[in-house]
Amino acid sequence: MEENKSTPRIVIIGAGFGGLRAAIRLARSPVRITLIDRRNHHTFQPLLYQVATAGISPGEIAAPIRWIMRRRHNVEVLLGEVEHFDLEKKLVKLPGLEIPYDYLIVAAGASHAYFGHDEWEPFAPGLKTIEDALEIRRRVLLAFELAERQAAGGSGAMQLNFVIVGGGPTGVELAGTLAEIARQVLANEFDAIDPRTTRIILLEGGPRILPAYPEDLSKSAEEQLRHLGVEVHTSALVTNVQAAAVSMGSTRIPAAVILWAAGVAASPLGKALGTPLDRAGRVLVNPDLSVPGHREVFVIGDLASLKDKNGKVLPGVAPVAMQEGTWAAHNIERDLKGEPRRDFHYFDKGSLATIGRAAAVAEFGKIHISGFLAWLSWLFVHVFFLIGFRNRVIVMIQWAWSYFTYERGARLITGSQHLPSWDALQEEHERHPESRISA
Ligand SMILES: Cc1cc2nc3c(=O)[nH]c(=O)nc-3n(C[C@H](O)[C@H](O)[C@H](O)COP(=O)(O)OP(=O)(O)OC[C@H]3O[C@@H](n4cnc5c(N)ncnc54)[C@H](O)[C@@H]3O)c2cc1C
Repeated sequence: MEENKSTPRIVIIGAGFGGLRAAIRLARSPVRITLIDRRNHHTFQPLLYQVATAGISPGEIAAPIRWIMRRRHNVEVLLGEVEHFDLEKKLVKLPGLEIPYDYLIVAAGASHAYFGHDEWEPFAPGLKTIEDALEIRRRVLLAFELAERQAAGGSGAMQLNFVIVGGGPTGVELAGTLAEIARQVLANEFDAIDPRTTRIILLEGGPRILPAYPEDLSKSAEEQLRHLGVEVHTSALVTNVQAAAVSMGSTRIPAAVILWAAGVAASPLGKALGTPLDRAGRVLVNPDLSVPGHREVFVIGDLASLKDKNGKVLPGVAPVAMQEGTWAAHNIERDLKGEPRRDFHYFDKGSLATIGRAAAVAEFGKIHISGFLAWLSWLFVHVFFLIGFRNRVIVMIQWAWSYFTYERGARLITGSQHLPSWDALQEEHERHPESRISA
């Protein structure tokens, strides 16, 4: 494409589901695009739990942004963390760099929230990035190894408890898969401990798990989890998290591994825009996805707050982000052609949540399905949307292999061999060697 000074420059922040869609769509127009991300790769977050539970390797669910954009010659990819904006001067600010724009699309997503208790984070990591997934994998696999070493040393087998806080889709899939690991994958590989005695405990503060799903599917998900050996506790409000224990009021559950899947917080870039936010810190957007007072600035995906026709805020899911990305691009194209903008309407194709091997729930309008069929739908939808043909093939093969063999191919402990909970758990065990630790 011929470029000159009058070619509109569009800056997109974030190459997640929303930003990537916007860039791919806009690359067909006579514009110059700068796509900025603080990571060099796009992450397919719905499969992060598979990396965290050693099912697949990180490279299979992530793709370099530069590689995705390699044939789009009007797209410039920059690695960097955006910190500020000057909406009046139309500038995006990164350390040591200011980038001017004619249009700006902010798609910086969300991260985990600890309800004002950020001190819990080191003891209970959340799952949002590849690094998070690898840290969870490290802790889970290390817990079994340390328990084996301790038992082999003659100190008696230690009760292993894994606690997952938050019964939304991520908590449910982590709990279900960890149960499979303990009951099936590792069942016969240790000598001094029996991994099948590991307790997988899922704590949900509300009255039911998967609260965004219809009640019958929540119930079915709970039954499927129990069938896999997960202990599900609802109306269980966590009041404290320490190195080796989760407390709910006076009830204290010792835990070798604690995982956080309970809350999300919008990216701080929303606040940096200086336009109105909702109570969750998401940017309130106009129906055309621009922000009030700045027609040239769009916010999309998990960072945007927009209500559907029933007055409900659109959920933080990939299809919303992708459709918004395409729509923001459409509206910029309409501006450039001198056509009026159009309002965004989300087209909800349904929701799927996986629980474990052959276990899932799915809602397609009035049709609700559970079990194997839901799991198959989940599998095909997720593999279909993975970026890169190679990744799709590899993930399908790995899934088929582990379905029939119960093997998980990425069981590597990398990094430190220190488990934050271990010293505290050992002290507890030494003080009460005779007692099985229980809730
Ligand atoms: C574990 C997990 C499982 C999920 N499972 C599902 C599922 O099964 N189905 C589903 O529909 N949805 C699922 N989601 C939600 C879905 O992933 C999000 O709704 C979707 O990713 C939102 O897209 P987005 O473009 O708004 O943000 P993201 O995809 O999060 O992308 C944001 C991008 O912005 C970049 N960024 C952030 N801040 C900056 C900055 N300051 N400077 C530069 N770059 C920045 C980030 O690096 C990232 O690449 C899941 C999410 C998680 C965490």
